[in-house]
Amino acid sequence: MWDGEAEVLVLGAGHNGLTAAAYLAKAGLKTLVLEAKERVGGGSGTEELTAPGYRHDTCASIHGGIQSGPVLKDLELDRFGLRYIYPDPLYASVFPDGSSLITWRSVDRTVKGIERFSPKDAAAYRRLMEFWEKAIRDGFARSRYSPPRKHTEIYARLEKSEFGFALMKLMASSPLDVVRDLFEEEHVRAHVLKASIQGGIFPDQPGSGGSVFTGGTGARHTFGWGIPEGGAAELPLALARCLRAHGGEVVTSAPVKEIIVADGTAKGVVTADGRRYASHKALVAGLHVRQLFTEMIDPQWLDASLVEAMGNVKTGLSEVVLHLALSERPRYRHGLGVDDVVHVHAAESIADLIAAYAEYRKGNRYPRAPFQIICHTLLDGKRAPQGHHVLNIGHYAPYDLSGRPESWSGIKEALLRHEMERVREYIPNVNEKTVVGKLVETPLDIAASNAMFLRGDIGGMGHLPSQEGVLRPHPSISDYRTPIRGLYLTAACTFPGGSITGAPGHNSAMTVLSDLDLNGAAQ
Ligand SMILES: Cc1cc2nc3c(=O)[nH]c(=O)nc-3n(C[C@H](O)[C@H](O)[C@H](O)COP(=O)(O)OP(=O)(O)OC[C@H]3O[C@@H](n4cnc5c(N)ncnc54)[C@H](O)[C@@H]3O)c2cc1C
Repeated sequence: MWDGEAEVLVLGAGHNGLTAAAYLAKAGLKTLVLEAKERVGGGSGTEELTAPGYRHDTCASIHGGIQSGPVLKDLELDRFGLRYIYPDPLYASVFPDGSSLITWRSVDRTVKGIERFSPKDAAAYRRLMEFWEKAIRDGFARSRYSPPRKHTEIYARLEKSEFGFALMKLMASSPLDVVRDLFEEEHVRAHVLKASIQGGIFPDQPGSGGSVFTGGTGARHTFGWGIPEGGAAELPLALARCLRAHGGEVVTSAPVKEIIVADGTAKGVVTADGRRYASHKALVAGLHVRQLFTEMIDPQWLDASLVEAMGNVKTGLSEVVLHLALSERPRYRHGLGVDDVVHVHAAESIADLIAAYAEYRKGNRYPRAPFQIICHTLLDGKRAPQGHHVLNIGHYAPYDLSGRPESWSGIKEALLRHEMERVREYIPNVNEKTVVGKLVETPLDIAASNAMFLRGDIGGMGHLPSQEGVLRPHPSISDYRTPIRGLYLTAACTFPGGSITGAPGHNSAMTVLSDLDLNGAAQ
């Protein structure tokens, strides 16, 4: 009757599904993961995309978020072969006028660099980092690795002090407003702003100002800006080894098509080729919520308003990514001084930044969209032949190009040429002699690569204030539980959202264990 069975079935072997599975297996539950693709990892993957021997991260290339949480330690992922490299400098910005600005792991050293542009901004940056260190840092890390708190709770605490009101104001502002309030100098503003909106936030998005003192600055200084040695795939591979060590297993090439529900309880799943798998205690879905609620579950078990809401989730930012294999080390234009920096933002100007996102909203490409260049191989020799390098160059771009996502297919060759020219403006030695392989990926390609990247959204569903915290993915299911008994949610559509954090996986597993009265077993 069943082709496989387990106490817990986890759907989707993205890093969140695997994190949840590893915690649950570690707690003693027989756990099986079903993954649509032939490899594990979802958006945390590494493949030879351009030429043999050159290993490119397919999506996520920096694992910043996961550094602040308990996942790496709890699951002892170093024992399972995972090693993080922590670049220092953390990142740099290069500007069209030939100047550059570097953020180092050390706040003191960073402040010295900012002083060259504005002593006032240098002092403001130091104050911002003191604020982060004293008042935000611990709460930031804790808050993401537990279910989202109600707005009333958060505001009740903040309303107790002047400091709380100040924080509330920053959080309610847009990142652009926060950098304009804090800093006076345009290079400094662009440098901090670009980093703060990297996770898929519009610069002028009210309610997202907190990113300026968390993900964009403080969290990077404190927890580091990790890259897995060997490639992003090493994280899911280590998670899968951990899962197996605790008696669990992953079945790949098993796209789930249907959730089996009886008497309001999740019983198992059916895959696209008709295999049936039973879940005896819990079913954890690490899939996109639109796919799950509108396509996989018989509507009789769900409130029609929930199904409608999940059908209407708003997607967020997508990207164009250029992957390059190089036969020599990338050398930036003379004077920029960032040849040794792994992660570089070609930040352009604040005016370019604003214009790029305005065009994005209209469905247009902006030729001078600020972009980032990542060269892991400066510190990680496992990703390319000796002396050779891989480059990952990305910028945001609309899925609905000129109103039609298919428009991307028609311009791919021109796009590749344009992206190469833009890189060459900053790295002149990217040329016919040095480029061993190249590949450009559009929002359309990203959407096709993984059902989680709905409409090319790199975070699954948009990081908008209306879809954050207890509103993600919907107020009635933000605690990872669903109206169907035994069916739980995890992954990027749940709190705290997209990026490589492992937080949705951790939080979902803790919820399942709590419902099964197994809290103690997780340690
Ligand atoms: C171009 C790009 C660049 C990015 N850069 C970064 C970065 O530098 N840093 C960062 O932190 N984040 C980055 N992200 C975001 C990050 O990759 C995602 O937020 C993250 O991978 C989400 O992890 P997840 O486990 O929640 O979901 P996913 O990794 O998407 O995993 C979902 C899994 O479910 C599987 N699946 C889907 N449907 C089914 C089905 N029906 N049955 C079975 N399995 C199914 C998928 O194949 C996939 O393996 C980037 C994303 C993109 C697209």
